Amino acid sequence: MQKSIETILGDTEGVAYAFPVYRLEGSDPAAPAAYIQAALHAGELPGVVAVDALMPKLRQAEAEGRIRGRLTIVPAANPVGRAQYHFGEVEGRFHLGTRTNFNRDFPLLDQPDPALAEALGGTVDQRLKQRLLALSLGHDIVLDLHCDDEGVAYLYVPRALWPAMQDCAAAMGVAAVILWDGQSGASFDEASLHPWLQLSPETARLDRKVVTTVEYRGLLDVDRRTAEADAEGLYRLLVARGVIADASRTGPSQFTGLVAPIEHIDVVAAPRAGAILFDVSPGDRVARGERIATIVHAAGEENGTTDVIAPQSGYMLTRVCRRSTYAGDDLVKLVGDAPSANARQGALED
Ligand SMILES: [Zn+2]
Repeated sequence: MQKSIETILGDTEGVAYAFPVYRLEGSDPAAPAAYIQAALHAGELPGVVAVDALMPKLRQAEAEGRIRGRLTIVPAANPVGRAQYHFGEVEGRFHLGTRTNFNRDFPLLDQPDPALAEALGGTVDQRLKQRLLALSLGHDIVLDLHCDDEGVAYLYVPRALWPAMQDCAAAMGVAAVILWDGQSGASFDEASLHPWLQLSPETARLDRKVVTTVEYRGLLDVDRRTAEADAEGLYRLLVARGVIADASRTGPSQFTGLVAPIEHIDVVAAPRAGAILFDVSPGDRVARGERIATIVHAAGEENGTTDVIAPQSGYMLTRVCRRSTYAGDDLVKLVGDAPSANARQGALED
């Protein structure tokens, strides 16, 4: 395993950011290559500890000569966001200088050429995105590890790669898969796949491509047991796709969890500002018209609360982790049994 340090110069004199990249060479040039990054949203750490738990498995596989495909690992992909501490909180989702989401506005290249990405320049957040995209290009498997506020483990998968990727979802043991296509606001996963979609099918070989945004539950799901389980899921995926040889890992190749198009997601907003009393948790089934939360907007008054009702029957994917809301803020993501009446265009906040 080789470690190198990537350096991104800041936008002002005397400032630079650095992050490590770990690389393992594969013994078989024909085997798929894999790229894994975590914490592009710098405060989302379940993926970071999953990668930390994965590394000993990779080192052991390397020592035993079982690494077949090339691996590139970026355990903490966003030192710029990581440094944005204000009033005791990390702002790891948006770059403060440009107010841009760190997982939007990646360059959409016509060809999978790292040099094209790096030539674009711009502010530090743009150059970080270009570097990450350049690092990931050339890998058949690209995993971007995120988390939601509170949620089940789920994947965003490009529709062009489904159902070919169902063995990956099964190996990872996630609860749900959300399929998207079209535009996502140039998120990292879209930028990773976009150049290949411009090529002929024979060249692109989409059947062996794996590109996904992994939502490893919620912000607080950072613990030893979960990290070990997620690392095992990542390892199983690498074995299933032939990056690592390991006869001891055989698992189900049929995904049995929930699969739904992104148009089925209802993002339910708070009708009033106040305190949130949730009735449902991620993973619950709800029926249309069922109460999913109550907003206490005038504590102590008669009629001082407002119920929030499920707009349709479905599966609770996520909910916010704070218990204070403003009017119009998102409360939950509900995967409806039918398309949402007011489905959002493009990607959800991931
Ligand atoms: Zn994220």
